[in-house]
Amino acid sequence: MKNFSYASPRSEAEVLSVLAAARASSNQRETELLAGGTDLVHLLHHMVVTPDLVVNLLDVPSLKDVELLDDGVVSIGATVTLDVLLAHPYLNPYPAIGQAIEGIASMQLQCQGTIGGEILQRPQCWFFRDGRGLLAAGGKLAAEGDNRYHAILGNQGPAKFVSASRIAPALIALNATARVIGPADDEEAYIPVADLFRTPRHEGERENSLRPGQLLTHFLLPPADGVASATYEVRHGAGPDYPLAAAAAALWISGGVVQEANIVMGHVAPVPWRSHEAADVLRGRVIDEQIADAAGAAAVAGATPLSNNDYKVQLAKTAVKRAILRAAGLPTGGL
Ligand SMILES: Cc1cc2nc3c(=O)[nH]c(=O)nc-3n(C[C@H](O)[C@H](O)[C@H](O)COP(=O)(O)OP(=O)(O)OC[C@H]3O[C@@H](n4cnc5c(N)ncnc54)[C@H](O)[C@@H]3O)c2cc1C
Repeated sequence: MKNFSYASPRSEAEVLSVLAAARASSNQRETELLAGGTDLVHLLHHMVVTPDLVVNLLDVPSLKDVELLDDGVVSIGATVTLDVLLAHPYLNPYPAIGQAIEGIASMQLQCQGTIGGEILQRPQCWFFRDGRGLLAAGGKLAAEGDNRYHAILGNQGPAKFVSASRIAPALIALNATARVIGPADDEEAYIPVADLFRTPRHEGERENSLRPGQLLTHFLLPPADGVASATYEVRHGAGPDYPLAAAAAALWISGGVVQEANIVMGHVAPVPWRSHEAADVLRGRVIDEQIADAAGAAAVAGATPLSNNDYKVQLAKTAVKRAILRAAGLPTGGL
């Protein structure tokens, strides 16, 4: 591990001023934010990231709360741990989130990992984790090497990894927004969670859209009125491992008919992958197995699998189908 300086600010404003001071200083160019550390510490150990300064977020009280705001919005601080969210009554109307957290299947990770860190964890791509860079020789290593867990959608450019977050598809399906502050001390923005993600085009870009000096502080869930949601993951087994393919569905159903639908796939593309095609199939229809299957097929119709991962197309189709059935309260036929 490379030596680094360490700071533990006590407020959001202090975090921004520590980050600003680091950017202004000549010997603290690279900075990383530390939440639960379950991802970052591993990357530090293996020198995949080599910051000059690590800024701990766990001493900032305003990031630790789950609140129900006056307008029915649920506000979740970025360092709320996953076990707290799983048990929190405000999250009951949003089952897609709890189902995604349950998938992590490790009490230790749920108690230590935070929602901000889960959303912004770095890709699991083995080329990246082996120090070959996020794009691994402009995509060549993944395209020509072992790509069995890599992307089947959105993989036409150099980025072949899959977005690692399990919870992001659920938040995006539920139309959640993120509060981001900085880099200037008076800058504050509320952005759709989907916009936190981007597909990097060169090694200088990360897979999230946060700029140096910015801090993700909260997630805001709109009131759950009338929305039925679910997450479905296709996994190797029940242990703490990442899914092979996953999907979150949010359905607004009235009179038995789908009025609106959001379908977002996970672990299939460098970003959580929203399928407008699947939503188009569902709108105006009554959910049954046939319609859910058609939506699954629409979701993967544009897939471009790599040399070793065409099996993921069927898995992603099944994840979409079963997430829709689960959201609608119908049997999924799966586990
Ligand atoms: C052994 C092991 C097995 C795992 N298995 C699974 C698994 O099966 N499924 C699964 O989904 N996950 C798994 N994980 C990942 C785990 O769920 C995530 O690592 C965890 O949720 C990340 O949260 P954290 O608070 O520890 O993040 P950290 O490690 O502290 O941070 C992760 C990243 O997010 C950035 N960050 C954190 N908070 C903020 C913020 N507020 N603003 C800006 N940037 C921020 C950090 O700089 C860092 O780059 C595993 C991890 C380990 C170590």
